Amino acid sequence: MSTKLPQNPYSYVSHLECSLTGQHYSHDRMRGLSDAGAPLLVRYFLGKISEVISKDTFVQRSPDIWRWREFLPLPLEMEPVSLGETETPLIAFRELPRVFIKDEGRLPTGSFKARGMAVAVSMAKHFNANGLVVPTAGNAGSAAAAYGAAAGIPTHVYAPIDTPTITLQEIELHGAQCHHVDGLIDRCGQLAGKAASENGLHDLSTLAEPYRLEGKKTIGFELALQFNWSLPNVIYYPTGGGTGFIGMWKAFDELEAIGWIGSRRPRMVSVQTLGCNPIQQAFEAGHDDIMTAFAPVDTIVPGVRVPKPLGGRLILSVLRASGGHACAVSDDATIECRDQIARSEGINLCPEGAACHVAYLSDLETGAVNRDETVVIFNTANGLKWPMPELI
Ligand SMILES: *Cc1c(COP(=O)(O)O)cnc(C)c1O
Repeated sequence: MSTKLPQNPYSYVSHLECSLTGQHYSHDRMRGLSDAGAPLLVRYFLGKISEVISKDTFVQRSPDIWRWREFLPLPLEMEPVSLGETETPLIAFRELPRVFIKDEGRLPTGSFKARGMAVAVSMAKHFNANGLVVPTAGNAGSAAAAYGAAAGIPTHVYAPIDTPTITLQEIELHGAQCHHVDGLIDRCGQLAGKAASENGLHDLSTLAEPYRLEGKKTIGFELALQFNWSLPNVIYYPTGGGTGFIGMWKAFDELEAIGWIGSRRPRMVSVQTLGCNPIQQAFEAGHDDIMTAFAPVDTIVPGVRVPKPLGGRLILSVLRASGGHACAVSDDATIECRDQIARSEGINLCPEGAACHVAYLSDLETGAVNRDETVVIFNTANGLKWPMPELI
């Protein structure tokens, strides 16, 4: 790796913290949820980081997630398990020059799940895990399979039977054991948890271990750098488990704590579809957690097919702290938008990205966002991973 690292025997991690009770845990071994059953957050000695690096450091480093190494949990002397997690571009719309697509489809395995898995699998290897398991709506499974292969660790994936075929094929191509489940990701999660405890596998479920969030958080750092240490006004994010949503906010908190950005934050908009919108329902009902699983789930957009995200409380608190809101759009509008953007802009959005664009256009109409604002729309995967229209 060309990145030059400061001399440090370990990492800048100080401890793990329960996101519900604030209780501290040591980071000396692999951990799942806190004793209260809530996600654990990684905390750092941020003051020490600011003594060894500055904002200018990053410009000199290779443009990938590992340039943020001091803010990541992997001990500095460890080689990461990496497949080239490149910085992703911001692409301006031809007609809307202040609206940018953050194109995460450039990442290994064609989705931003690579960010989280690169860090989580690196940590699993560091702790000598002898097997990995993950439930998935699709892309988490293919990313886990690829990084598991790169790390030489056997990987099991539990995926709904109606996951796009190409994703199931990709999981098997990488040599993972793919278990096809007649149910949704929550059922897959139960089976993965059972496999983890029965067979001693390391469970990589969303937010059930602390390190995928750390990898995902690099999108927040990247945005800050790409916008020259200011931030866009509004961010549209297709929300399933919410790792990226929560992770970006954590990155902004860390950057503010270290003094590299001010207190101005983007309004965070969580985008789902009408066939699975538990976050919107809880947000609009004024709840601070998602109480019941959304049912019946009926949407073709895989990334948002999460009826009861474990990080519901964290997602809702970011929505409110940012002054943002939650939207739900229709599948039909999503596919129509994908087709239209492909022709007008030359960009093949994944359905999750197209859903965000639909949400943006509808917010423009209601006035929830205005034309002068700088906006980032997340295209979370490569459009080629999803079926395209039949040939004419
Ligand atoms: C996983 C996934 C999402 C949802 O991401 P979270 O961070 O879990 O909310 C959105 N889009 C795509 C393409 C995904 O694979």
